[in-house]
Amino acid sequence: MKNYKIVFSALLLVFATLVSAQENYKTDKSLVSTEYDYQSSEGVYNVPSFEDVSGKKKPKNIILLIGDGMGVAQVHAAMTANGGQLFMNNFKKVGFSKTHSADKYVTDSAAGGTALSAGKKTNNKAVGIDENGNLIENVREFAEQKGKATGVVSTSAVTHATPASFVAHQPQRSMYEAIAADFLKTDIDVFIGGGLDHFTKREDKRNLKTELEAKDYQVVTSVDELKTANSPKLAALLAPTHMDKMPARGDVLPLATKKAVELLSQNKKGFFLMVEGSQIDWGGHQNNTEYVVRETLDFDKAVGEALAFAAENKNTLVIVTSDHETGGMVINNGSYDDQLVKAHYGTKGHSGIMVPVFAYGPGADNFTGIQDNTDIGNMIFKLLGKK
Ligand code: MG
Ligand code: ZN
Repeated sequence: MKNYKIVFSALLLVFATLVSAQENYKTDKSLVSTEYDYQSSEGVYNVPSFEDVSGKKKPKNIILLIGDGMGVAQVHAAMTANGGQLFMNNFKKVGFSKTHSADKYVTDSAAGGTALSAGKKTNNKAVGIDENGNLIENVREFAEQKGKATGVVSTSAVTHATPASFVAHQPQRSMYEAIAADFLKTDIDVFIGGGLDHFTKREDKRNLKTELEAKDYQVVTSVDELKTANSPKLAALLAPTHMDKMPARGDVLPLATKKAVELLSQNKKGFFLMVEGSQIDWGGHQNNTEYVVRETLDFDKAVGEALAFAAENKNTLVIVTSDHETGGMVINNGSYDDQLVKAHYGTKGHSGIMVPVFAYGPGADNFTGIQDNTDIGNMIFKLLGKK
């Protein structure tokens, strides 16, 4: 009897180590900042203003950009570090989203992502599955059914909770290999992010890279290959698990956003694209102001790419929001002129506060005021033509 206990404990330890290795971006002490202030020494980027193209028409294309962990403080911190301006300053249709999940006042990214993707509250940790374990349809799947091109872009593994919510249906967000296999069950056109190992180094020995190629996907594993990729079916798996943080990652998120739009917009029926700034959340978990600011500025540049396309195309709705705030970030002082942010934090986890919602283009008026995260998903369904 005792031996069983020892073996069981040993197995449990191995399992716990494997799980925590995936999640160590939250707890890695070597990455935790003890310096909460951040003064940017980068030059500020200038932001053009885009003409308002809202109108009453339904959008042909929808781009949903999710800043994971991005509350109002994170946006304002980035704004301050860039001398007072962001691409996000262009939005005139502004609202707030309540983020609680089915079982918790404070959501995680799985339930938060599922609320935005499927318009339904679910329990923390569940991806595309409701409280009773039923599979729930997401807006990307519905767009696909409508003949539109679809895609997801993230700076985490594409199998991580947020992008997974637009593709997969699994009871636990940590089931990365099952989530990777779910990509093969869809007709998703473009996905760009990290997570190569979940496709190729699998317990079941399947090689999903080969399987994707057999389904006519161009599969690339480097940013250089991504730049020249031109297949309408594209899988770009640019890191074994998650991509580097800023500034080491370079401009891959804005670049991937532009590439995804370029490829998806070739579909005459339009497209749905989800873009995630994944690591704003991880900066928040570490209470690391520089990490938060650099990631939010990078995300803002991806928003800029979406806005530039929408301003020219006039048929594209751009929605920017977040799944939840992370860190309970407070800006207690700063300077636009000196690009300096002085911040404090209330938690190493997520907070329950409302997050901003910004919208631009046809249909944007539907996203103002105080709404639930599920209202956003349901409105996207409606704008895609769901009865
Ligand atoms: Mg995320
Ligand atoms: Zn988080």
